[in-house]
Amino acid sequence: MIREDKFGRRIYSDTVWNRMLRTGQKLAELGYQESKSKPNLFYAKTDGVAFFADLRGTKQMPIWDDARPYFYWEPNPEFPPWKCRRLVRQEYSRLGINECKVRLSFYFYKDPLFEGSSSSVDEENSVFDCDDGFCRKCGKDFQDEGSFCSEECEKEYHESLKATCAVCGKKIDFSKEEEHHISYKPEMTAWVHKGCHGKIHKTNLYPDLKPKEDDLRAHRAELEENKTERFTTKDLILEYLMGNYRGYSEKDLIFKVTRGLHVTEDTVKNALQRLHRSGTISLEYTSGMGRVYSIRENKKLGNAFRRSKDGTQTLLGS
Ligand SMILES: [Zn+2]
Ligand SMILES: [Zn+2]
Ligand SMILES: [Zn+2]
Repeated sequence: MIREDKFGRRIYSDTVWNRMLRTGQKLAELGYQESKSKPNLFYAKTDGVAFFADLRGTKQMPIWDDARPYFYWEPNPEFPPWKCRRLVRQEYSRLGINECKVRLSFYFYKDPLFEGSSSSVDEENSVFDCDDGFCRKCGKDFQDEGSFCSEECEKEYHESLKATCAVCGKKIDFSKEEEHHISYKPEMTAWVHKGCHGKIHKTNLYPDLKPKEDDLRAHRAELEENKTERFTTKDLILEYLMGNYRGYSEKDLIFKVTRGLHVTEDTVKNALQRLHRSGTISLEYTSGMGRVYSIRENKKLGNAFRRSKDGTQTLLGS
């Protein structure tokens, strides 16, 4: 390895250089070789995919700004794409598990291998989620393109994404959900059918779901007082995912990764859930930590959010 980046610039920081050396060592242990003609570039060739772990930095991201190797791949064109995606996914997590976290290109979702399929990445937990021949519903290894092994699985999966009505207990069709406030402080909401919603407000059949009069009054007063700023759901999602996550949807709803977020994780998680419930997006996948979202846009993003003075944001709704 050499103490230089891709553009011949010296690496001054001992911390960065030592970390690079450790990573190089680690990569070698994991079966990577350093390129002779391009020092600091490591590669591992397999039948299906050639993997690259680049410690030279890039123009957009110098190695001293992010000392993780930049990870990319070259699929064997004779291999079906789903199989190559599986190999990429497995390699990505193998590196992560072995304490060699890598970073992906900002634009990996534009890679021909991933374009047109659902995928998302949770860098923190080294989880790369993509359509790779395993059914998203039952987990069956169906070894083909697409997300599901069968139409039944696809149907069941979408059914499972639907909200359940708090009044009648039945599933609500996408875009038909109404959000009812059980209370405003603390904020508690439930998803209900349009018809069921009326029953809460117009009768006394569901006292547990009815907001208290003074709570409702205080909420209305606050709405009056608050100057609200409208912005689209897309802005909010973008802003959220700028925190830690990247992913994309089939319709190329893109989430960038930068720092400087003003919303709390919970706020946005809730907002995403709401968007999902409202049918604006489908949450394709949620990791054990509830952190990974691959989002599919179901309809035009037209909802507006309210930004309060403290910087938190809520969806303007019923
Ligand atoms: Zn299945
Ligand atoms: Zn109902
Ligand atoms: Zn209501």
